[in-house]
Parts: sequence; structure tokens; C-alpha cells
Amino acid sequence: MSNYTPMIQQYLSIKAEYQDAFLFFRLGDFYELFFEDAKRASEYLELTLTGRDGGGKERIPMCGVPHHAADVYIGRLIEKGYKVALCEQVEDPTQAKGVVKREVVRVVTPGTVMEEKMLAEKENNFLVAVTKREDHYAIAAADFSTGEFYVTELSGSSEQAIDELLAFSPKEVLLSPDLSGDEHFLNQLRGHHGVHITLLKREWLPALKQIEEELQRQFPGCEDTYGSPVSLEVAGILHTYLQQTQKRSMAHMNRLERYDAGQYMVLDTAARQNLELTATLRDGRKKGSLLWLLDQTATAMGSRLLKKWLDKPLLDQKQIENRQGAVQAYVENLILLEEIRDHLRGVYDLERLCARIAYGSANGRDLHALRRSLEAVPALRKRLAGTSSPTFAQLVEGMDPCLDVVKNIARSIVEEPPISIKEGGIICERYDESLDELRTVQREGRSWISQLEQREREATGIRSLKVGFNKVFGYYIEVTRANLKSIPEGRYQRKQTLANAERFVTPELKERERLILTAEEKSVEKEYKLFNEVRDSIASEISRIQKLADQVAQVDALHSLAVVSNRYRYVCPEISTDDTLKIEGGRHPVVEAAVGEGFIANDLHLDRRNRQVLLITGPNMAGKSTYMRQSALITIMAQIGSFVPVKKAVIGIVDRIFTRIGAADDLVGGRSTFMVEMDETRQALGQATSRSLILLDEVGRGTSTYDGMALAQAIVEYIHDHVGAKTLFSTHYHELTALENELSRVVNVNARCIEKDGEVVFLHKIEEGGADRSYGIHVAQLAGLPQEVIYRAQVILKGLESRPEGVEAERELSMHQLDLFQYETAVTKEDPYSEEERKALESLRNWDLLN
Ligand code: ADP
Repeated sequence: MSNYTPMIQQYLSIKAEYQDAFLFFRLGDFYELFFEDAKRASEYLELTLTGRDGGGKERIPMCGVPHHAADVYIGRLIEKGYKVALCEQVEDPTQAKGVVKREVVRVVTPGTVMEEKMLAEKENNFLVAVTKREDHYAIAAADFSTGEFYVTELSGSSEQAIDELLAFSPKEVLLSPDLSGDEHFLNQLRGHHGVHITLLKREWLPALKQIEEELQRQFPGCEDTYGSPVSLEVAGILHTYLQQTQKRSMAHMNRLERYDAGQYMVLDTAARQNLELTATLRDGRKKGSLLWLLDQTATAMGSRLLKKWLDKPLLDQKQIENRQGAVQAYVENLILLEEIRDHLRGVYDLERLCARIAYGSANGRDLHALRRSLEAVPALRKRLAGTSSPTFAQLVEGMDPCLDVVKNIARSIVEEPPISIKEGGIICERYDESLDELRTVQREGRSWISQLEQREREATGIRSLKVGFNKVFGYYIEVTRANLKSIPEGRYQRKQTLANAERFVTPELKERERLILTAEEKSVEKEYKLFNEVRDSIASEISRIQKLADQVAQVDALHSLAVVSNRYRYVCPEISTDDTLKIEGGRHPVVEAAVGEGFIANDLHLDRRNRQVLLITGPNMAGKSTYMRQSALITIMAQIGSFVPVKKAVIGIVDRIFTRIGAADDLVGGRSTFMVEMDETRQALGQATSRSLILLDEVGRGTSTYDGMALAQAIVEYIHDHVGAKTLFSTHYHELTALENELSRVVNVNARCIEKDGEVVFLHKIEEGGADRSYGIHVAQLAGLPQEVIYRAQVILKGLESRPEGVEAERELSMHQLDLFQYETAVTKEDPYSEEERKALESLRNWDLLN
């Protein structure tokens, strides 16, 4: 190390403290990366890798990015899950003795991004911390770009803790020193893609006493909210990490909200995914999800709030009814619905504007965006005040349009400020006397110069004389070669010679120039100072603006629900605290939005006394899983306060929804379909209460027929006898329909099909009773299998149906299914198959008939 140049030594000592980040080392107009960082970054960012002598034996690998374009590169590294430490020159290089002093001024990490370009407008960007004491977990989540900070505790399994933290869709997860060493927890968490994990060492964690003091400073008056030591620790971890990475004001993060997971409907990760609440199973995008359908918000804050509602449906009847009342008020008054939308459109992302103002990264345009947003509030307030909804009345009551802030911005910041806050042109005339004076000097100087041309032409008689400006020489007088003889003796000083002309200055011109330039420099400085003052004065009003942001977000989210309810003719469900789930004419909101009128509505009736478990039979493609999903979606929509796609519904509040739907292979976790299936079922059986709703779709199909059927039956019995949760259980095992006679609260329904001209027609209609037969062969026919195969299958089926029933037949069937292929081998000699048929048969061989 000692051979390295002082600058490289400085680099190495800083880098030693930021091992887990790319160190962007400021050198003049560039950020340079060295050593391993340079090698890796040049690869990830496609930069040219060069080298630099640093005093060591070998050249040091190096690459760099221009500082003004650094955001793009930083963004790319963050997206890949890396961290970037920004190391700046913290003294004026011209004043420095020896190596310029440098310091890391900020560490950008996936969970602490502030840059507008790196954030998804309608999504939160959560950083989550988790810790554990005995079997007690505590979770803290913060979105630094909006200022939200939540804490919760739960006692339960690691799975539940992970489900709870994943509900935030975190961009980064911090594990407490204890959990960092917990392999089991780590492995489980690693199984979920896209989660960037930061492990923390014990030495890193400050003492509890210190954490407590820091938190009190950050969240004055929040002492009671973090309460217990484990909550204190987790809030402390999150806060310390933010402090250490941001290294500047976090004034916008001023509220610590504690919530109890038990206040909301519990939806585990499997349920969220399977029901496609906020992202589809197919590609993980929002488009096609329930949120996508419901999100007609006009503001980014409203959109983020709506997602939070969907992540945490309510359990309290009164709260649900309050939201319903507001949606009702909109739906009853379509003009109101239109007008509110127009008002909301004028509101920018107040939460993120506040954050940038406090953080010190807001510019003049941001302040005007804030001003215009605030200006939209009085009209919004006035319009809502006349409605019948108590929710609106309450929101309106507390809405503070922050007129003082509006005034402040209007008189200080020009209407169309530049992007930069360091180049002037940002502060209004007559805002500051000394700035006005500086500007007068500049104006007068310029006007003196602009008249100079005329004066000099008259004085010299040279009509082509020009006054111009360039960066190197400043102002000059230009005279063509032919006219040089006419210039006045002595007054003109030669400055520059061109091919055809000479450029001159005069002492007066130089003096004016000096006055203008100094005034300009001073006024730019002054404007910067004034701008910061304005911004800071707004920053001190931030909690008022944040409160307003929250109110506007609510108005917007409710508005969005009303727009959708109106568009698709949804109905206000009756919310009840008993255990009935009764739906007349229910539809799947997303499928209906896609197929329109063609969607067939279905009824559902579940209650704990007589109809606890519905056993749904019917062939593949008959609409069983759509029916199950829509029941869950309608329940969730009802509990966020939305209207629902039904003719009429009574929704008994559900505390949790469990799902086992679809064949989701857990490729990352390396578990088979069957294992995932059993795991999800286990969670349902273990955690469901009598107030829960369980959806089990074809459980048991991932294993052999016997196994599967036995498991399916045992599961139904267990739910019936021990769990008591309302359950929808679809199955292709006909034999299970016999359970209706043995278990008093099991009821058979089936997805009805009819046969028309020898083909099955799916009616998508769910009716009482078990399906009378399987239509598997017809489905195979629909799929275009060779007639030969279909015919043979029908013959085999006939044979089976004439035998004694039940399990015996099932075994025979599986044997005969094998025979199907032996038949092919046997007849190959006579070769009855065309090439095409042979291919079809090949694919049949590879086809899992139970799927
Ligand atoms: P299953 O679970 O019985 O195999 P699905 O629920 O997957 O069947 O439905 C199969 C197809 O039928 C899907 O493409 C779905 O869009 C359509 N479908 C299901 N239910 C209805 C309905 N009630 N009205 C119209 N189309 C439906």
C-alpha cells in the first residue's frame, strides 16, 4: 500500500469502509472506479476498462462515467441489486494542500432510491428490516421516497414473518444480526426472487439506548408506538441504516406508524400470487391483475394507497361501511365523479415532492408542482363538502390547503424556472432587494453595451463596426481590416486578430464588463441562497402537506373504486359479522372485463351451519377455478370497501384467505408441484380459523390416483371436522361426491356441461349436485386427438362402466390407460397411422391426462 500514490491510498482507505458497494470516486468531472469495482462495473455497464499508474507494480484497472450522466449508470447498478457509494470532493481543489479531501456523501441502495427516474411512479419503494427474539418477529418498513415508516410485531412461524414482510414488495431487506445467522430463515427468504438481502453484523448495531434517543429525535412524540424492545430494535436498524446511507436530512420521515397484522385480512404470499391481486401469475406484471382493474386513480399517491388497501383488506365492519358510503356518494352523483377527477388530475405526487423538498433535491419546478397541486385543493374540498358521506365530511374537515405555502412559492419562484438551481433565473423580481440591485447593474451594463455599437459607429464613421461577445475574451469591438485606418488613436486596445478583421476593447468596455460579471456571479449565488431558504421554509411545513397528501390519496382511491363500480355495474355488498357468504349472480371481475357480456354469472352460498364445504366437480375447462377465484376476489373487494361484481351479496367478514390453485412450480426453491401443493395445503389446515376462506383446487392431482384421492378425502374430512373454515374444494375425483352423505356440512355442486352433436359444451354454470360423469374423453376430442384413440377410449370406458364401481374401477382405468399405448405398439405392424396421427399419439403419450 505504501507505494501507492496518496490519492490511491485515499481511495483504498475509503473503499475499505464500503466493501459492499461500488465506490464512485469523484475526480474532476468524472466518477472513477478502480480495481475490482472497475472490472465488474465495466462489464455490467459496458464501459471501457482502462488503467492508471498508481505507484504500485501494476497499472490499476479503472473505468469512469461523467458526473452529469452518473444517474443513468447508478440506476442500472441499483436495478441489478447493487449499492453505489458516492464519494465527492469536499473541498475546493484550488484551495487544497496535497490530495483533495474526499468523503462518501451518500450510499444509494435499492431500498433507498430518491431519484425520480429510478422510481416507479405508482409504486412504493420499500426498505424492510426484520428481527427476531425468541419466537417473536418484528418488522419495520420505510419508503424513503415518500416518508412512510411502519412497524409491526408478530409471534408465529418464520413463514408468517416472511409473508408479512413480502406484503410490502420490498426492494431491499435488512436482516438483524440474529437473523443474519439463521440459515433456515435466509434460505426461505432467498426463495423469493427480486428480494435484495443485506446482512448486518452485530458490531454494526448501535446500543438500544442510543437507538431510542435517535428515534425520539426522528419521530418526536412516537415513544409509545414502538413500545417493546424488539420493535425498538427493528425500527432502530431501519433508521440507522437510512442515516448511514443518506447522510442528510430525513425530515420528511416524521411519522412512525405501528400496525397490528391482526387488524387486517391475512393474505399469505401464495394467496396474493394465486389470486393475482397485484400482479399476474403469467408474467408478474400489474396488467391483468385485480389492482390493474381497480386502479383508475388520477394521482400516484392514490394508486399507491389503493395497492395498500388491496394488500390489507379490512376486518372492521364500520370501517368497511365508511368506505362504501364514500363510494356510494360518488356513484350516486356521476357529475361529482367527473368533476373530482378533473380536480385530482391537477395534483402532483405530493408525498414525493415533500420528500425531495426535505431531502434538499427539489428544484424550482418541483416547488411550482407543489404550488399548483395545493391550488387544486380548495375546489376539491368545496366539491366534496356537499356530499352525504361522513367519510368525505371528515376528510374535508381536516383538509388544509396550505395557502401560506402557495403564497410563499408564488412570490418567490418565477413561473417557469430552469431545471438547475445553481444557474440563476429562478427567483422573482421584487422578492429580494439586494438581488434586484444586482440585476439592475446587469441590465444597465448590458444596455450600455448594446448602445455601444451605435455610439462607436457614429464616432468612427465605420458602418460595419460590430460589438460581440465570446467566452475567452468577453466583449469586444470588431473592425474589418479595410476600416482599420479609421479607428480612433489610443482608445482601442487590440485583443485578437482574425483573417479579415481585428477585435478591440476599450477601458470603459472592460470596466462595464467587470461590473456585469461580478453582479451576475453575485446574483447567481444570491439566488441559490434564496432558493434554499424558500425550500427550507417549505420543508418546515412538510407534515401539514403530508397530511393533505394522505387525504387526497384517500379521495382518489375511493374515486377509483367508484369509477370501476360504475363502469362495470358493481353493487354494494351487505357486510355482516356472521359467517355467511352469499352471492347472487357473482362474476369474476378481471375475466368479465376481458370477455364482457359473455361471462356467465354464478351464485355461491357458504355458511358454517349447513354449507361449510362445497365440493365442486366437473371436467377441465368447465369453469371451476374461475368460480373459486371470483368468490375470493369478491370477498376481498368487499372488504376493501369496493362495490362488487354481483347482483346481490352478503359478505360475512373473512379473516384470512388460503389458496391452493394452479400448478405453480417453485423453481427457485427447488420444490416440485406436489410439494408446493402440500405445503400450501398444510398452511391452510394449520392456520385457518372458522372465519377463514379456503380454496383448494384439485388437491392431490400431483400424485398417483390412489394417493391423490385418499389425501383429498382426508383433507376434506379434516377441514370439516377440525378447521371449520368455509371451503371451496374442486376435484376431478367423482368418488368424493359420496362424502356429501357422510359429512353433514359438505355439499356437492358441479360445473355443468352438456353434450351437443357428440361434443361437450361448457355452460360455465355452477349448479347443485355432483357431476354425473367425466368428460375427459370429450375434452381429448376437442383437443384434436386422432379419432382412433377417442374411439378406443370410449370402448374401454364402456367396459369399465359395466364393472363394479368405485376404487376398483379407478385402478382398472389406470391400467387401461397404459393399455392404450400397448394397443398402439401391437397394431404398429399393420401400420394404421398416418405420420400426423403418429405425432399426435406421441404427444398424447407425453400428456398428463390429469392436467
Ligand atoms: P377449470 O378450473 O374447470 O378447468 P377454468 O375456471 O380454468 O376451468 O375455466 C376455463 C375457461 O372457461 C377459462 O378460459 C375461463 O375464462 C372460461 N370461463 C370460466 N368460467 C366462466 C364463466 N362463468 N363465464 C364465461 N367464461 C368462463
